[in-house]
Amino acid sequence: MPSSPSTTPDFALVGGGIVGACLAEELSGRGASVVVLDAGEEPGQATNKAAGVAVPSLRYLTDPAFYDWLRHAKGDLDADVARLEPEFGAFSVARPILRALRATEADTHAEAIEGAGAGRWVDGDELAAAGPGLKLPDSRRYLLDEGGLMVDGRRYLDAVRRRCLAQGVTWAQGRAAREVREEGQAVSVLTDEGTVTADRVIITAGAWSSGKGLAEATGVRPQRGQMVVLRSDEKLNCILSSAYYLAPGVGDDVIVGATEEDSGFAERVTTQGIGQLLRFATTVMPGLAESVPAELRAGLRPVSGTGRPLVGAVPGRQRIFMSAGHAGHGLLSARCTGKGMAAGLIEDDWDALPYSMCPDHALGGAA
Ligand SMILES: Cc1cc2nc3c(=O)[nH]c(=O)nc-3n(C[C@H](O)[C@H](O)[C@H](O)COP(=O)(O)OP(=O)(O)OC[C@H]3O[C@@H](n4cnc5c(N)ncnc54)[C@H](O)[C@@H]3O)c2cc1C
Repeated sequence: MPSSPSTTPDFALVGGGIVGACLAEELSGRGASVVVLDAGEEPGQATNKAAGVAVPSLRYLTDPAFYDWLRHAKGDLDADVARLEPEFGAFSVARPILRALRATEADTHAEAIEGAGAGRWVDGDELAAAGPGLKLPDSRRYLLDEGGLMVDGRRYLDAVRRRCLAQGVTWAQGRAAREVREEGQAVSVLTDEGTVTADRVIITAGAWSSGKGLAEATGVRPQRGQMVVLRSDEKLNCILSSAYYLAPGVGDDVIVGATEEDSGFAERVTTQGIGQLLRFATTVMPGLAESVPAELRAGLRPVSGTGRPLVGAVPGRQRIFMSAGHAGHGLLSARCTGKGMAAGLIEDDWDALPYSMCPDHALGGAA
């Protein structure tokens, strides 16, 4: 789609976290004119709090189509790392990922793990070599995957946003959308600073996407995640994924993440949450007892009723779309979502996105 010669942009995006940023880059890369309206003083909410494991979670093995899509997403993310880091600086650390599974869990998923090529089982000396400094209980089974990746959300978003700006995307901070209204052949976004009109609007407002006046009744809600950044002399040779995870940060720190809590929009760290994370960290890596907690974080992941992102037209609307609900895999899947959605919006080809993510299908006509 060529950029329209009028001042009406082809697309206005409501929300400039990593999901909005990747979509904006994909749309403008295909020749569309794009405006991003973001409510915050700086772009990103959940994205800025996240640093974590950007590989498909084994919890999705029971949904092969979605798991395959996440694997594909990992390929797109790896390509982003290769493309953007030389230009904008490091936002990731590549390390093998070591997963600790309960025996029952390992047995239940053994076939699917093998089928998906999600790693190989290790024990004894090989396990000790994979995770020096770790104190790992014998009661668990250990799966090692060489393709682990930790991504720092704030740095990743900064790189994608700068690429957007270089491609001519208009990006406005401090522009909270109060209402999105279809009006004939265009859509109006009402903000306190005036109205922006676009050919089509996409709600990419993370946990706030189902707010009043936006993609109401689509059921996207916040899930709090707390995280601790530790300064330590201990070196982590792998990413350890168990009840929580330990991962090496981009600066030589250690990331301990992350809680999954249903606590509404209360975006704050709590003694209980941080306590659980620190207990986990010092149990699996006793050397971290001498580390210094350098940063405590809490962010709100956007989650939908199906646990899958909702990507496509808002039910009942012609020109209002949404891309939200990326839960604990938004860093992993934002690029793949952006590519699939841009193909859908511009070429009317939605096949790259799993059908389970179609809002109309996922909401069963309830919205
Ligand atoms: C502690 C933690 C750990 C995580 N770990 C991982 C991990 O290991 N791997 C992984 O892949 N993912 C992880 N995630 C999840 C990932 O961070 C999210 O899925 C992703 O950041 C969601 O991006 P988003 O753009 O949808 O939302 P956000 O980053 O929240 O961005 C939403 C944007 O919308 C804007 N906005 C809101 N309302 C309005 C409005 N009315 N008008 C205009 N703008 C608005 C906000 O200002 C914000 O900039 C983690 C998240 C947390 C909190």
